[in-house]
Amino acid sequence: MTRVLVIGGGIAGTAVALALHKAGLEVAVYEAHPDTAEDIGAFLTLASNGMRALAQLDATDAVTAIGFPLTSLRLLDSQGTELAHAPMGEADDPALRYRCLRRGELNAALQAEAVRRGIGLSHGTRLLSVDDGRDHVTARFADGSTATGDLLIGADGLNSTVRRLIAPGVRPGYAGQRVFYGYTDGAPPPGGTGHITMVRGTEAAFGYAVSPEGETYWFARVTGEPLPADELTLATPAAWRDLLVPLLRKDATPAADIVAASSGRVMVTNATEMPLGTAWHSGRSLIIGDAAHAASPATGQGASMALEDAVVLAKSLRDIADTRTAFSVYEACRRPRVEHNITVSGQMSRGTHAPSGTGRPRPGDDEPARLLDWDTDIRTSAGR
Ligand SMILES: Cc1cc2nc3c(=O)[nH]c(=O)nc-3n(C[C@H](O)[C@H](O)[C@H](O)COP(=O)(O)OP(=O)(O)OC[C@H]3O[C@@H](n4cnc5c(N)ncnc54)[C@H](O)[C@@H]3O)c2cc1C
Repeated sequence: MTRVLVIGGGIAGTAVALALHKAGLEVAVYEAHPDTAEDIGAFLTLASNGMRALAQLDATDAVTAIGFPLTSLRLLDSQGTELAHAPMGEADDPALRYRCLRRGELNAALQAEAVRRGIGLSHGTRLLSVDDGRDHVTARFADGSTATGDLLIGADGLNSTVRRLIAPGVRPGYAGQRVFYGYTDGAPPPGGTGHITMVRGTEAAFGYAVSPEGETYWFARVTGEPLPADELTLATPAAWRDLLVPLLRKDATPAADIVAASSGRVMVTNATEMPLGTAWHSGRSLIIGDAAHAASPATGQGASMALEDAVVLAKSLRDIADTRTAFSVYEACRRPRVEHNITVSGQMSRGTHAPSGTGRPRPGDDEPARLLDWDTDIRTSAGR
């Protein structure tokens, strides 16, 4: 049986482990972080296409047990006037509705599901290097241990160690915006739960959603130079609120009050994206998820794309005996779609692209549904 080493136990790593296991391969996950709670603070939305990928992995229940559904999107202008309110994604299907989740909780749920299915998952095992040989591949970890397999999947995120082997010198670049995330359980803004509200502010793109318990999840994307690393780690929540609130007060929307009422941690990152054309595989190793195609967060598709990767890669390795061919088919299926996302999301971050606003599937979105269908041979759905 083919043995696959998966580096990274985030969204891409746990999902690909579930997918490879379902495809009948032997798989083990090696995660650097000592526990499951990394990045518990930031939240994300899983779009209908990501929920569809989860369904192919029989993991819907594990994920719908956490977070809350979003069925529509409201768009406000800088004066708080509602420009649009439209259904989002596959709102009528409870399994495929958009879902808003804390990223750490999603990781923990997927990890628990992998363990429940008997997949080996080690925490505190940080990959240092890879020996990619003729007959097998060996991973070397910081704790002195090693693991040997037939294939190695790098799902080790934005600053991937596996990518350094496959695409030396390729680094993510800044996508033009700083991104702020927070929560408040103060009085929720008007409008209730079940939808995400996007505000086209004069100084920031702002978004918020209210959980059924009345907690407001919010983000702000602000154009400007990247924040220095020491500021990102050292600045206090109060300092971030002091920076954001005056920018948001210029508009007549709920944004400034939401941020001002957030007494807890504010999470801040510089939006980053991978260069188009980054090599994804060499020898027995391949990168997926953010390691391969991180996009700025504007389209909100990173996690959903990682889930799609997992299904398409497992189907490729299940249906095609020769690994090199399977990697090439996987890449041919995935690259146009994920690079389109990098491009559009980057344009939105830089203010050079008008978002469609509804989150509805676009023409051509049937193709990934076909590729994701677990029961269809990848060679059929990829047109080979
Ligand atoms: C601010 C922000 C907002 C976002 N909002 C959204 C959103 O709304 N919707 C959405 O779909 N996506 C969103 N995303 C993107 C989404 O979070 C990522 O695309 C997704 O988490 C990628 O998953 P991944 O598993 O590839 O990488 P990660 O989640 O980064 O996981 C990588 C894992 O690898 C581990 N690792 C790293 N190095 C090593 C090593 N050497 N050895 C072993 N393990 C290692 C890490 O500890 C981590 O657990 C957002 C991203 C950011 C930064």
